[in-house]
Amino acid sequence: MEPRATQISNPSTMVIAMEISPNSKEGPRLLYDVAIVGAGPAGASCAYWLAQAGFNVIVLEKKHFPRDKTCGDGLTPRSVRQLEDMGLSEKLSRHHRYWGLRSVAFGRELELSWPDHPSFPRYGYVIRRAELDKMVADRAREAGATILEGIEVVSATIGEQSCEINSHTLSVQARYLVVADGANSRLGRYLGARRDRSKPMGMAMRGYYLSPRSREQWIESHLDIRDNSGKIVPGYGWIFPMGDGVVNVGVGLLSTNKRWKGTNTSELMSLFLRQVPSSFELDNSKAISPPSGGRLPMGLSILPRAGKRHVLIGDAASTINPFNGEGIAYAYESGRLAASVIAEALSGEGDTALGTYDILLEEYYSSYYRTGQSFMELASNPMVMSTLVRIGMRSPTLMSWVLSIMANLMKDDLVRPETALLEIAASLANARQYLAPRARSLQVSVLARSATAATVISKSSSVWAKLTNKAS
Ligand SMILES: Cc1cc2nc3c(=O)[nH]c(=O)nc-3n(C[C@H](O)[C@H](O)[C@H](O)COP(=O)(O)OP(=O)(O)OC[C@H]3O[C@@H](n4cnc5c(N)ncnc54)[C@H](O)[C@@H]3O)c2cc1C
Repeated sequence: MEPRATQISNPSTMVIAMEISPNSKEGPRLLYDVAIVGAGPAGASCAYWLAQAGFNVIVLEKKHFPRDKTCGDGLTPRSVRQLEDMGLSEKLSRHHRYWGLRSVAFGRELELSWPDHPSFPRYGYVIRRAELDKMVADRAREAGATILEGIEVVSATIGEQSCEINSHTLSVQARYLVVADGANSRLGRYLGARRDRSKPMGMAMRGYYLSPRSREQWIESHLDIRDNSGKIVPGYGWIFPMGDGVVNVGVGLLSTNKRWKGTNTSELMSLFLRQVPSSFELDNSKAISPPSGGRLPMGLSILPRAGKRHVLIGDAASTINPFNGEGIAYAYESGRLAASVIAEALSGEGDTALGTYDILLEEYYSSYYRTGQSFMELASNPMVMSTLVRIGMRSPTLMSWVLSIMANLMKDDLVRPETALLEIAASLANARQYLAPRARSLQVSVLARSATAATVISKSSSVWAKLTNKAS
């Protein structure tokens, strides 16, 4: 018996429900194997991989595409790899491609190409999220996913055999639920997920400006934002060329760090705009719209990220990289990882398969993210940050290496972030005479933590195999 949609309308609620297949091993089959809440990078990637593997997937998205999302719009080679794996190479190639990072600080500039890597391309793109997210959602639809727009999910019930999610007008039942509703994840909190407040949280703000330098082939990052008295403030700024007369300009900081309290992204943005090289010709008259900001839940700080029948992915699961605030690649990757685990659950492994999702996330990212948090803690001291940046800006080799660590583009079997960081810290040991006693003790604690992390033998290559093969 073929699955059949049951649509029951009543004045307030339409139920898209269930049925069928009496021969199924798991009993009556629901119409949907998986319901996904949110069609951003995480939800759309999860939907694509599940639909592509033949599962029956529905995605509920509260906005209508094309919809804006506050973002720097920067795609690193890690993101590009995931998009190309979803068959989007040709569509991507119509957008603005760039080749690396121009790092600017203390009067120096370094142009750092993306590293040569066996798994990632040597280029990235800058694409407005309105276009990017629609492109991936369309791809998931082509693969067979149902995506309903303009539907805001307000509650969910996880049962023994199925889940039910509800909007004000619709109720959907599915075997498994994926929560992909972004940084403020109301649904995640509704299902009991909480952020570990001892871990860092980032804040960022961005705006669009007309600029004659919008076609540059480098994204630019500034590591020395100063206040009115010329003192370095803890934060960084970026200018990402969109390729069409516009640049995306933004700032970021770690809001949870005590030293950064009192700094907010609006102030940081004004300070940064005054400092941007005049050749970009940025001033308020070139602003296309008022700047907007958002939170960056990072470092797997949200728990629990999985239950018996549901998983959290992307920002809802705090998968952002604490080294650089990049979240799109990790949204795609966690969506794909969740898809592979749910595919196993639906293919006979049963509900216990979902437990492996969190194990895989931890295995693949956590020691790298822990290192990132320690590193950011160290670097959030303005004095330490200036020392690190001043030293780095004198050595293109060191900075290229730092770039590949911060963008998580190390060659897997050659160097783990912990050992790389140890080596960087060792080279910085030469600069210890510049560091104050407090910074020295922090440096020692980072070294100690890194050494511990380095003893953990990573199984990341097996997870990578899962990411790249299993669900495809
Ligand atoms: C200022 C700023 C700059 C950034 N710059 C970059 C960058 O340059 N590069 C980078 O890689 N990352 C960047 N990030 C991070 C990146 O934007 C996120 O990591 C990424 O969007 C996460 O994807 P997601 O799918 O998890 O969540 P989202 O992209 O937030 O998608 C969540 C989706 O869920 C929908 N939704 C929410 N609630 C509901 C509901 N109840 N029912 C139905 N649908 C719902 C939303 O409408 C949305 O479409 C930046 C973030 C900020 C704030």
